[in-house]
Formats: sequence, C-alpha cells, structure tokens
Amino acid sequence: MRILLLSDIHSNLDALEACLAAAPEYDSVVNLGDIVGYGANPNEVIERSRQIGKVFVRGNHDKAACGLIDLKDFNPLAALATTWTRDQLTPGNLEWLRSLPIGPVQIDGVPDVQFVHGSPADEDEYVVTARDAVEPLMLTSTAVTFFGHTHLQGCFTMNQVHLDAFRPVYKTVGQSESSDVPLKNGMRYMVNPGSVGQPRDGDWRAGFAVFDSDARIVTFCRVPYNLKAAQDRILAANLPQRLATRLAAGR
Ligand code: ZN
Repeated sequence: MRILLLSDIHSNLDALEACLAAAPEYDSVVNLGDIVGYGANPNEVIERSRQIGKVFVRGNHDKAACGLIDLKDFNPLAALATTWTRDQLTPGNLEWLRSLPIGPVQIDGVPDVQFVHGSPADEDEYVVTARDAVEPLMLTSTAVTFFGHTHLQGCFTMNQVHLDAFRPVYKTVGQSESSDVPLKNGMRYMVNPGSVGQPRDGDWRAGFAVFDSDARIVTFCRVPYNLKAAQDRILAANLPQRLATRLAAGR
C-alpha cells in the first residue's frame, strides 16, 4: 500500500493543493494532525482533507481550535490565530475536530506501523533531536512511527547499538524534489513527513511524504506552492503579518 502522509497543514489551502497535485500515486491518505491554526482557510482545509482520506490523528492546534484545551500553553501569536480560527469554523467542522482520535492509530493491512501527532506516549511531545527520539523509540514495540508536530522533515532510527538522524538534502530551493529513504529491517524508525502548511526547517516549500509499505520506502517530497496567495489571504483576514512573512522564511 502506498500511503500519502500529510501533517501540520495549518489551514494553508494553497500548500495543500500543491501537495495533492504533485504527489506520486497513492492508495490512501493519513493526516497526522494540526489541520488548522495559523493559516486563513480552516474550513476549506478541513473539507478538502476529509474528501481525500479517512485516517486522522488530532494535533494540539486542532484541540485548541475546538475548545478541548485552553490556550495557556500557546504563545500569543498561536493563541490569537487559534481564537480567529475558532470564530471561522462552522459548527459541523468544530464538531468534527472534537471527534478526532488521539494517536497512535494504525491501519488495516499495514502491520507494525503507527501514526501519531507528537510521540507514541504523548501526543503533545516535541521530538526534535535524535536524543528526544531515544525514549519514544525504546518504549514502542512498533517498527515505524510516523509523527508530526515539529514541522521538521526527516527521520530518526535506532537499534540496540545505533542511533541516527536523517534529513533529506535537496538540490534546489524552489523546485519540486523528492528523496527516497529505504527502511532497513531490524531498525525502529520515527519518520516526520514535514509540514504541508508551515515548514520550519528554512525551506519554504510544502513538505509531505509517501510510504510504500510493501517496498518499505519513504519518499520525502518538497513542492513549491502559491506562497503569495497564502500570504495575501492571511493579511486579508487581518491575521498577524508575522504569520504571512514566516511562510516565506520557512520558520
Ligand atoms: Zn503544527
């Protein structure tokens, strides 16, 4: 099965559409959460996400936007965008966000693979470095964990003697590119497909991945999208300017 992995879309419809247009062939879609927050198209992104796939885990911004958690742990910019998002969402979409499952979730026909927002033990945990990944990799018995939350594309891998981190290296800054990573037997992996709507690794292009569960290959992808359109929508919505400028910086 070929699974399209989308994470941290953050209401960026332009980036989502670019990913869907550029994605290599896939059989199903798994969404790793933070569907909304920061960007200007929360309802459209929810509706499009529901059209293309049925497997979701909830992110912290999804929980905050629908009132499942309060905003005390959010920085002022994130809190402001969350309040704006909550006001925009239709009653049906608010209800749908409230119903999203906590990870880990698994899917039929794809054994030994799980999907989370932060980490298997804690949906809100940030796994940024290889050191952060040690405990989650040790505690889970599942070979491959796909996660999001950090907006950093790449993977961590471990066995009894070896711990490693991998970030795809791309040749351009503005074109569509992909990078294949074959997964080895006997290793555990945490794989982040990157953020569709607000990358934070200094590369403004939308990030996603496709996992071929038979060949056990992860294909990391970056695609350019209509950045100006996404920024204009943020400004037209009277959201903070920083939310528009950060998209260009990939931060
Ligand atoms: Zn996020």
